[in-house]
Amino acid sequence: MRNEIGIEYRTFIERANRAAVSWSHSIRCLVRQSKKSFQNDRPRGRESGIIMSEIAKLQALEILDSRGNPTLSVTVTLANGVTATAKVPSGASTGKREAVELRDGDKSRYGGKGVLRAKGYVEGEIQSTVQGFDANDQKGLDKRLCDLDGTPNKGRLGANAILGVSLAVAHAAAKDHGLPLYATIVDKPANLLPTPGLNVLNGGKHADSNVDFQEFMISPVGLPSFSEALRASAETFHALQAVLHKRGYSAGVGDEGGFAPQLKSNEEPVELILEAIQKAGYKPGKDIVIMLDPAASEFFDEGNYIFAKSDKSKKAPAEMVALWKSWLKRYPEIWSIEDGVAEDDHAGWTQITKELGNQIQLVGDDNFVTNPALFCQGIKDGIANAILIKLNQIGTVTETLECIQMARDHGYGAVISHRSGETDDTSIADLAVAAGMGQIKTGSACRGERIAKYNRLLEIERELGSKARYAGAGIYDQWKKPVKA
Ligand SMILES: [Mg+2]
Repeated sequence: MRNEIGIEYRTFIERANRAAVSWSHSIRCLVRQSKKSFQNDRPRGRESGIIMSEIAKLQALEILDSRGNPTLSVTVTLANGVTATAKVPSGASTGKREAVELRDGDKSRYGGKGVLRAKGYVEGEIQSTVQGFDANDQKGLDKRLCDLDGTPNKGRLGANAILGVSLAVAHAAAKDHGLPLYATIVDKPANLLPTPGLNVLNGGKHADSNVDFQEFMISPVGLPSFSEALRASAETFHALQAVLHKRGYSAGVGDEGGFAPQLKSNEEPVELILEAIQKAGYKPGKDIVIMLDPAASEFFDEGNYIFAKSDKSKKAPAEMVALWKSWLKRYPEIWSIEDGVAEDDHAGWTQITKELGNQIQLVGDDNFVTNPALFCQGIKDGIANAILIKLNQIGTVTETLECIQMARDHGYGAVISHRSGETDDTSIADLAVAAGMGQIKTGSACRGERIAKYNRLLEIERELGSKARYAGAGIYDQWKKPVKA
């Protein structure tokens, strides 16, 4: 009998059934053993011909994102009838090294921003390549998608087409197992709820004001749970609204739900946020800290930082780093700066990391663009101490997870991020929990497409029950915390 265990399962069953009744007990044991080994050896890829969860169909739809621009929704149907959909985000300030978001360029539709070509690729070339592929083999699928595209920046088929398929298949595999996405996209148990960074005040390209820096965020590091942290953030957001009203500022919100008033200087947003945190009944620098994303590439020109919106000054890279140093002295509540210098300012990045990298989190976004190769180089060069993770910057689930793993392996932080053009898709909430790196930034405490992610995190917190942990201030343990004033 032992030699027959290796033969095809069905044949074995038939033979077993023909065996004498007196053998029934040993045969039942052998069937169990054989069935187990059959499941463990479940083949991947089309060649085997016995896959239960193979990709049967891809459908794409040109939908709108939160800014009214076209984006892609991709629905995958597996052979067993399971279907899942992913909607692709889109960025406003895009790093030069990002994967290419394929737009039609046909000015007669959506000002050239249509995504019908990307839709065509999903339903044509990509579908015929991945049909029959096992949805459980995310790595294999993503490699196949990258190989099919054949360019280093996904410029042929578009990162929007590729990410739509990659993410939809990840969802389908989770559904096929009857599990949530956060429990299936990584191999280890996931129970860490991320500390959010909420973009409550905007400047730079995101606002018509005298503020050069793009994002001013609050981060509720000192609260005991995700739900309490979110409550504190929402209360602070409303307190900020009141502070703005009191001073006669507009409380209209921008793309990410942050206020975008006509403030007078780069410092004013920090002052207003500190006032709002206190007004809401929390301690700045303890319960709630400040994160900045000045998006310095946006005001870097020919080797200098041009403060065109505030005092019209011009700063060399060393002066820019000196400015951040002085800000940290003045505002010890700032615990994190993203893109404090420009993506092309290598000397500036080296200097800022050397001088401030042991005090606060320095997040690389435009310079790393969630690209494992660029990030690897940055690690070698000793640049930054954290990376911003955006699925659509690189274009597949696998490469995104690779970047996160690389951060973990090298003691870097990783902040999972939304884009300015979002939908009701909540994949990044699951990704943030699965990643286990304890950070997410997904907009302010308003606008449905941002709140959808926070609400999903509340659901995950409930699902995890007593197993749920909140990252809180623990994420900053790896750097020396700022010296409190
Ligand atoms: Mg950024």
